[in-house]
Amino acid sequence: MANRLPVIALDGPAGSGKSTIAKLVAKRLGIHYIDTGAMYRAVTLMALREKIDTKNEVDLVALAKRCNIEFKYEEKGLKVLVNGQDVSEDIRLPEVSKSSSDIADSIGVRKHLVALQQKMGEAGGFILDGRDIGSLVFPDAEFKFYLDASVEERVKRRYKELKARNIEQTQEEVKKDILARDKRDKDRPFGALKQVPDAVRVDTSELSIDEVVNTIASRIHTKEDTKEIDE
Ligand code: C5P
Repeated sequence: MANRLPVIALDGPAGSGKSTIAKLVAKRLGIHYIDTGAMYRAVTLMALREKIDTKNEVDLVALAKRCNIEFKYEEKGLKVLVNGQDVSEDIRLPEVSKSSSDIADSIGVRKHLVALQQKMGEAGGFILDGRDIGSLVFPDAEFKFYLDASVEERVKRRYKELKARNIEQTQEEVKKDILARDKRDKDRPFGALKQVPDAVRVDTSELSIDEVVNTIASRIHTKEDTKEIDE
């Protein structure tokens, strides 16, 4: 019988609050957080920097394989490194958000990143946020959640987040980007965003951050917290 610490899958659309919540749940439970969106963003940023055609599957996969993506856990937050270089800020730029859907559509890049995510999380003791964690990356995750929120609320949050980073975008532009990414995320033939039947859905539109963290953490506590679970 194999033992591992639990894996927590947190899926949902852009702006549903996944990364904020995942960070806080990880802190509360003393586990690590893997931001899988940051991995797609990291490959996107490198493709833009190297002027690689984001529709060219062969070049994209070769690029993804050249990117050594690492997470560094610091007091101030999660740092994302590509080939040793800190890209934590640059991967949040609007042009990266926009082009990330092309990269996420690439089946080869997806297969490569999914395999990396599985390797990073296989020992357990991780919360991973993304679109396909409960369906594809860890279909056997001990805990699965699907975060959602109204489009208006998601636009408001993303707008505030960009403003705090001094990135200029109007609410209309943010809304257009979120709606376009929702469509791409849901229509993707491989690794599409979907709520799997065994995921607990949490609508965060009317909830405070604390309330969402409590909702998720309390469900994990009732199942032996982060102690080893018999598989
Ligand atoms: O969540 P975030 O906005 O950072 O994700 C960046 C991009 O990566 C999105 O366009 C999303 O479609 C894609 N993504 C994905 N699968 C994941 C995580 C993110 O396709 N597991």
